[in-house]
Amino acid sequence: MNSKYKVIIIGAGPAGIAMALNLIKLDIKDILVIEKYKFPRYKCCAGYITNKTKKEYEKLGLNINNCHYTLIKDFKLYYKKKLKQTINNKFLYTNENINRVELDYAFYQLLKEKSINFIENMTIKEHNIENNKIILKNNKEITYEYLIFADGTNSFGNKYQKDFKKNIAMQLTFKSNRPKEIQIHFGITKKGYAWISSDKGITNVGLTDVFNKKTNYKLIFEEFLKANNLEANIKDLKGAFTPIGIKKAIINDNIMFIGDAVGACDPLTLSGLRYALKTGEYAALAISKKNNKIYLKYINTLKIKFTLMKLLLKIFYLKFVLFGIFEIGCRFLGKIIEYAFNNFFVNKK
Ligand SMILES: Cc1cc2nc3c(=O)[nH]c(=O)nc-3n(C[C@H](O)[C@H](O)[C@H](O)COP(=O)(O)OP(=O)(O)OC[C@H]3O[C@@H](n4cnc5c(N)ncnc54)[C@H](O)[C@@H]3O)c2cc1C
Repeated sequence: MNSKYKVIIIGAGPAGIAMALNLIKLDIKDILVIEKYKFPRYKCCAGYITNKTKKEYEKLGLNINNCHYTLIKDFKLYYKKKLKQTINNKFLYTNENINRVELDYAFYQLLKEKSINFIENMTIKEHNIENNKIILKNNKEITYEYLIFADGTNSFGNKYQKDFKKNIAMQLTFKSNRPKEIQIHFGITKKGYAWISSDKGITNVGLTDVFNKKTNYKLIFEEFLKANNLEANIKDLKGAFTPIGIKKAIINDNIMFIGDAVGACDPLTLSGLRYALKTGEYAALAISKKNNKIYLKYINTLKIKFTLMKLLLKIFYLKFVLFGIFEIGCRFLGKIIEYAFNNFFVNKK
């Protein structure tokens, strides 16, 4: 390990690895990636991938078909525990273990093939912003030209950001013999959804909500399992936060935030993988062209998009709107809802 790098990336999730791969493509190789865990590592995420996300991974050389990803045929919408519509799914892919371990590991291996400087099992202990220096947990001091926070929602760089609202997402994975399908349930939490996803003997159950510290999510989860006759050990329940809203993208002209660390996660659907990859791409381009505006311009488009999604989140989860969509819309406008679902997420190019 050297004591100076052009770019130091903290975190080797999809955002950090996408950024490193893009920098290499742009012929910037003096990079160091620092990751807290050793790969393959668990990440609390169902790992659903839309068609658009699939294309972003392919651009970086990763074919998700080689990571045991397939289209799930039936996508069933439930409201208050009753089936309202079955959609012939054309856009949502899942890994057969319904998690992200294999995907992240394959992405990490792509990076390893590039012989990039990479330290696992390592975290940052201190950041000296005036001297462009970080101190690692092993006390090694390293200076940088650019520092990238790609370390997720609980980023070390959060100390430079205002407090922000969050979604909570919890999931539990267990063995079962359920048919291959995705069920999405509304009306389980106040401002979120729940899911039951099954493939090849594995079931993943999860729920989301705009986080409210007064809500007993464990209890809601247990009731949801019971209502669906699912037998699983609640002790295995895992949870994490996803950000709501875009944060400061660049500070000090040379410190950038990407992925969840900048808030690049859809507040309504909680899909963050595509935005993690895209923020990594634009931040790399900005460094290569020595023009931060390239990154800020992309972040501004996300700000607009997510402001709209936040508004939609407020409207969608109003009780009468949910009732209208599922009790009236699904009954009379089923085909239109199916078309909207499948075409909104599918990239036809
Ligand atoms: C339960 C749940 C389900 C979800 N399901 C989906 C889904 O199906 N599809 C989808 O598109 N999105 C989903 N998301 C959102 C998605 O997980 C995130 O948006 C995405 O992971 C963001 O990628 P990232 O690279 O920014 O951060 P992360 O994936 O969180 O990666 C950050 C990396 O940084 C490392 N790290 C953390 N702190 C440090 C440190 N101090 N030093 C060094 N390294 C550090 C971590 O170990 C990790 O490897 C889900 C989220 C949750 C919580």
